[in-house]
Amino acid sequence: MKTLPKKVLLPVEKSTPEEEKLFTSLRAVEWDEFHGQQKVKHSLMVAITAANKRKETLEHVLFYGPPGLGKTTLAHLISKEMGVNIRITSGPAVERSGDLASILTNLTEGDVLFIDEIHRLNKVVEETLYPAMEDYALDIVIGKGPSARTLRLDLPKFTIIGATTRIGLMSAPLRDRFGIIQRLNFYPPQELEAILLNAAKKLKIDLDKKATVSLAGRARGTPRIALKLLKRARDFAQVKGKEKVDEEVLEEAFGLLEIDHLGLDDSDRRLLLALIEKHNGGPVGIETLAATLSEDIGTLEEVIEPYLMQIGFLKRTPRGREATTKAFDHLNRKHSPKNPQTRLI
Ligand code: ADP
Repeated sequence: MKTLPKKVLLPVEKSTPEEEKLFTSLRAVEWDEFHGQQKVKHSLMVAITAANKRKETLEHVLFYGPPGLGKTTLAHLISKEMGVNIRITSGPAVERSGDLASILTNLTEGDVLFIDEIHRLNKVVEETLYPAMEDYALDIVIGKGPSARTLRLDLPKFTIIGATTRIGLMSAPLRDRFGIIQRLNFYPPQELEAILLNAAKKLKIDLDKKATVSLAGRARGTPRIALKLLKRARDFAQVKGKEKVDEEVLEEAFGLLEIDHLGLDDSDRRLLLALIEKHNGGPVGIETLAATLSEDIGTLEEVIEPYLMQIGFLKRTPRGREATTKAFDHLNRKHSPKNPQTRLI
């Protein structure tokens, strides 16, 4: 059997510190720079306007959806619109209840606390968060054993904005404490084109129309990936001594990165080929698939699978993952429909 290609660092994977800096510099600072997600923007504006009119803090907000779709950016825009400060932390960074207590007691009235990867908060910290979210209070246990007492500490009113790529891993009590829950969806190509043109203007990159369309088509519906590809194409053009990012530069750059016109890269092909060649197209359980690829289940579920499902290459069924005819065709593999008997069973 053919061995699968070795893993290389690809645009869907973690960003380098240099790329993170670029994203921060390109972050939308006005609502009209934040393209698309009209329904999400509209309901946020209604909630913000109402809260501002009542001179109240905004309800707690939860954003979920694949990485790179704008959850952090929206949190910044909300805090700006409310005219308050934003404090940023993440689920794994808040290890103990004491860490959370120190963050919360340092907030001032109305502040936004953004918790990225909120599904990764540990149970004890999460339970400390419940009264904080509901009653703006912290319950601190003093002493141990029978003489232990609980002291209730009042907190300023604040808004938690949580972000998660895996809402299914959040406990129901935590989820239910958010007044506004919004899902962010993949972006259509036209919206990615607008994001790319805006970024190219800010970065003073000469990007022609054809190249914009081509970049948007390869961006997997994700602004962060679009920006990463733009940066890589610019670097590539510079190395080649070209002034302009055009179709020719893109073809060469993406040929090297092995990113095809749909934006599929090595990780996607490894997954699909494992399904097709080793498991006859599936269905196969996620654990088996992850073991076949020596990949972590979370990465498959959060980063790789959502886009493959979105473009109709992969199906999640109760019996496991299945590659679709479209995926077989794209990879030039012959689809041999399974025995109808087996299908019925
Ligand atoms: P997430 O928090 O969902 O992982 P980010 O908010 O960090 O995503 O977005 C990643 C990058 O993409 C940032 O540079 C951000 O400015 C840009 N971006 C995301 N969504 C949009 C959008 N709708 N319009 C313009 N830029 C966007």
